[in-house]
Amino acid sequence: METDFHRRIRAIAVSSFLLFAACVLVFAYASAPTTSFALPQEILRPGLRETEIVQSILGRLNRNRIAMPIPVDDAVGSLDHEIVKRFDCSSTDANFDSVDVRVRTRHVGWNRRVAVEHSMGTYYWNVEVVSRDRHETIRAHNWLMIDPRSTGVREAAFGTGEVTNEALLYHELLHGQLLISAMDTPKWRRAACSGRVRLGRERIQHSIINPAVSRYVRNRTERLGGASLYNVLRIVGVSD
Ligand SMILES: [Zn+2]
Repeated sequence: METDFHRRIRAIAVSSFLLFAACVLVFAYASAPTTSFALPQEILRPGLRETEIVQSILGRLNRNRIAMPIPVDDAVGSLDHEIVKRFDCSSTDANFDSVDVRVRTRHVGWNRRVAVEHSMGTYYWNVEVVSRDRHETIRAHNWLMIDPRSTGVREAAFGTGEVTNEALLYHELLHGQLLISAMDTPKWRRAACSGRVRLGRERIQHSIINPAVSRYVRNRTERLGGASLYNVLRIVGVSD
């Protein structure tokens, strides 16, 4: 059963990262196939510590998959390999006979100039659409950035500091997963077949993401004991 104490801690933990997680949606259309998609010069390689932090958080997310109301397997998988979807177009208003979708996510170095302002994490949908004859290829070269300074401090605090980091990364991965999942719906496929690729809207995504992340935090904090709960109060600056 949830106590007032648990409720309060969850509210603090959720509000402390909801304000600082963000997503960017970007499109590029190309009339001819391209072999590579240039990344802006500001995109950096992640540092060693930064990579360790993200790997640690990812490891815990994988171990606590049961706490996720919406699994993010494709988004996590896209950090390691390309997620490929292929479908034929059958509707009469289709501009193409078939569509390929390829989604890859790269963990890139934290860079305030590229990250969304005031965020501690940013997921960047970076989509290139190439059409040739009656075939369309939609390639997403996505980026994931996590601020190593603030997340590093919380990793060191263990307990609920770690859960707050999991919530931040889970939030960002949901920005990837929701759109990857939407690609399996007839509505999305029909739009893609007629040349109207839908990236979705952040506001709509957040109406799904925020409750899912709250649920994750709730499921995780319910299993934590008193010492860890004390830590989250300390981390977010609550004195009692
Ligand atoms: Zn977001």
